Amino acid sequence: MIKFLDLQKINLTHQAEIEERLIATFRSGWYLLGNEVKVFEENLAKYTGSAFAIGVANGLDALRLILRAYIELGIFQKGDEIIVPANTYIASILAISDNDLVPVLVEPSLEHYNIDIDKIEEKITEKTKGILIVHLYGRVIFSEKLKEISEKYQLKVIEDNAQAIGATWKGIKTGNLGDAAGFSFYPGKNLGALGDAGGITTNDEALAKTIRALANYGSNQKYVNIYQGLNSRLDEIQAAVLDVKLKYIDTENDRRKEIAAIYIAEIKNPKIVLPENPKDIAEHSWHIFLIRSEDREALQKYLTDKGVQTLIHYPIPPHKQQAYKEWNDLSFPITEQIHREVLSLPISPVMTDEEVLSVIQIINEF
Ligand SMILES: *Cc1c(COP(=O)(O)O)cnc(C)c1O
Repeated sequence: MIKFLDLQKINLTHQAEIEERLIATFRSGWYLLGNEVKVFEENLAKYTGSAFAIGVANGLDALRLILRAYIELGIFQKGDEIIVPANTYIASILAISDNDLVPVLVEPSLEHYNIDIDKIEEKITEKTKGILIVHLYGRVIFSEKLKEISEKYQLKVIEDNAQAIGATWKGIKTGNLGDAAGFSFYPGKNLGALGDAGGITTNDEALAKTIRALANYGSNQKYVNIYQGLNSRLDEIQAAVLDVKLKYIDTENDRRKEIAAIYIAEIKNPKIVLPENPKDIAEHSWHIFLIRSEDREALQKYLTDKGVQTLIHYPIPPHKQQAYKEWNDLSFPITEQIHREVLSLPISPVMTDEEVLSVIQIINEF
């Protein structure tokens, strides 16, 4: 069987180095707010080109904390509107509503599945204070126009970079394109920990300081609390593992790009829509390789029968979830079409050429 993602194989690629750091951390007797987190934060900041990086407990917390910090700083107020793509993993939207901010959904473009920048301006009101862009599936979304809109209306641009570490726009890394970015290091992400982990990058010192306090009970100094904060810390064990894996993220993403390029060149089936703009392959981190088919259910069953594991990212759009029942009657036809038609093929740094060619041959025979 060709697995969708062989996490064990990915992590065992770095077995000796990871085990050495794990044992050293274990033996150090220091498990939180220590040197491993500090070193990883420095390396993550350096990697993205940002001035500050903060390790937190997970990707959802990273986004929640950025928005919460803007509220504490008086830049956002409860009830303010944040623009967000209708086509995203629900965490992007949960982070907004959890802070009593109002998510304003915008349709994606079928060309890249990310927010349609041409549809942002019509959704801006006096209450709009930010745009949460999501580099979904590892496809970077940014443009001069987005920058102009954010400047014209003085909106904060927040990146949900959970799926796109290592992606670039005009040579700038995701995580350093907007005002602040949230990362997830969930095990299955391109940079995955051995459990939950997340991070934040920004060039804004006041924001970084506020986030660091909020993530640690609202405290910058032990037993002195300036905010009603939460506990959202990255632990030393996860930081140690992430620091090892960060060194290899570019090499691993390069292999994903290679596989994406082969899929795009070799999959030839009129029933299947491939990602557009193949000339941009090198910009994206290819967290997920997405195809579309009007016959998705039959295609997935066929691939399963042939031993190719696939997943659907995602089967139900956020506005159709029970969690947001007030939106259930809204219509986002492009988002709904994406959720109806997409299928994610196996892609990972440890997939062999043989496996890639086998997937292609099987799909072409569908
Ligand atoms: C994974 C993910 C998150 C949440 O990250 P967790 O670490 O699981 O909390 C947020 N947004 C997107 C787009 C994601 O893919």
